Amino acid sequence: MFTGFELTEEQRLLQDAVREFAKKEFTPERSREYEEKGEFPWELYRKMCQQGYLSVQIPEEYGGQGLGLMEELIVIYESVKVEPVLAYTVWCGIFGVDYLINFGTHEQKAKWLPKIAKGEIVSTAMFTEPAGGSDLTRVLDTRAVKVGDKVWKINGTKTFITNGTIFDVACVLTQTDPNAKPPYRGQTVFVVERKPGIDTTLIKGKMGWHCSPTAEVSFSDVEVTDDDILGGPANLNRGFYQAISFLDESRVKVACAAVATAEAALEKAIQYAKERKAFGRVIAGFQGLAYQIVDVATKVELAKSMIFRTAKVVERARHDKAMMDEAVKLASMLKWYGAKLAVEACDLAVEVLGGYGYIAEYDVERWFRFAKVLEIVEGTREIQKNAIARYVLGREAAQYF
Ligand SMILES: Cc1cc2nc3c(=O)[nH]c(=O)nc-3n(C[C@H](O)[C@H](O)[C@H](O)COP(=O)(O)OP(=O)(O)OC[C@H]3O[C@@H](n4cnc5c(N)ncnc54)[C@H](O)[C@@H]3O)c2cc1C
Repeated sequence: MFTGFELTEEQRLLQDAVREFAKKEFTPERSREYEEKGEFPWELYRKMCQQGYLSVQIPEEYGGQGLGLMEELIVIYESVKVEPVLAYTVWCGIFGVDYLINFGTHEQKAKWLPKIAKGEIVSTAMFTEPAGGSDLTRVLDTRAVKVGDKVWKINGTKTFITNGTIFDVACVLTQTDPNAKPPYRGQTVFVVERKPGIDTTLIKGKMGWHCSPTAEVSFSDVEVTDDDILGGPANLNRGFYQAISFLDESRVKVACAAVATAEAALEKAIQYAKERKAFGRVIAGFQGLAYQIVDVATKVELAKSMIFRTAKVVERARHDKAMMDEAVKLASMLKWYGAKLAVEACDLAVEVLGGYGYIAEYDVERWFRFAKVLEIVEGTREIQKNAIARYVLGREAAQYF
């Protein structure tokens, strides 16, 4: 990954170490096994945490590595490229942690981050509700109502939640002021510990990505306090803005995983095309197939360079508000393009492998089914395009999207 870019010596060492670790641990046999059983890969999750690979951006004082986005992207890319389904599932064990890192109070960070860094617990983030996931600007059905001096009660249902059956802590977007105009100005994120009143139901029948438990999560009079508001009481009704900021960075990571998935599928296709013979020659010698491989190879290279650039801009935007628009635009472009490319590359790999491409043993069928979800999570392709349109065409033109 990122060949041709000036990685620091430390980043290069990290890249080599993750690659070696992933080759040893994220084997296709294990991935097939976890997928068949539909089981979260706990052992691998804990091993990744022990190596410090899942706490890259957690500050050192809270048990992490205190490194930046670029280093986390290196970990994501190098592990996902070895075995997309398994590595992405493991990385998702810390889903939502950026919320705590970027907005949490010292108490919230001290309570949760060291446990997450050690792999003792699993986190998640909850936005989507049965009535819709794309439009977070409406009045949310998950309500938090103040019932005492500092006490709130949460009621409602979130759906399609990654780690939904196994999470220990979640950042949950709720409606705290249903009369706010516009409604998103009345939303608040609470840091919620798993406790009685929270019920989860595994969503069965997914197209793929079976080793990641996706669930519906319902809240029935779940008590939280002012201290559980992400970033403290001053952030009451600031949840939508925190969510948008969280999603911008998260989109870059999903995109990074998507491009790594595309490259993994591309390499499988190339290897097979150079070995398999038909009509007396290797199938790579058929121009129709070769051109498709060339197309995807070119797109993968372009996408890889965009990861590097987007990461730099998103990191700068954390401290420089003037970079914010560029960061949102690039993150949305990369998410849309990277996820689409993952689907295209996996589709191509299945095609190149012919009948074998459709068989589990050859891995690309699993990757193909997995790749599609990357187009859905953290905003569908239409939602990314709406965001891009705002910057390319201007807010006035895009206001009706
Ligand atoms: C396996 C999996 C894991 C997930 N994990 C999580 C998680 O951990 N946390 C979480 O909160 N959510 C999670 N999600 C939910 C995911 O983010 C949503 O499914 C996604 O945002 C789309 O929301 P929706 O399904 O309600 O579709 P809808 O919002 O109903 O959209 C349906 C279709 O309409 C299109 N559409 C909607 N609005 C517009 C518009 N303005 N312009 C053009 N087209 C539009 C969409 O692009 C889509 O094609 C997960 C989903 C899956 C499948």
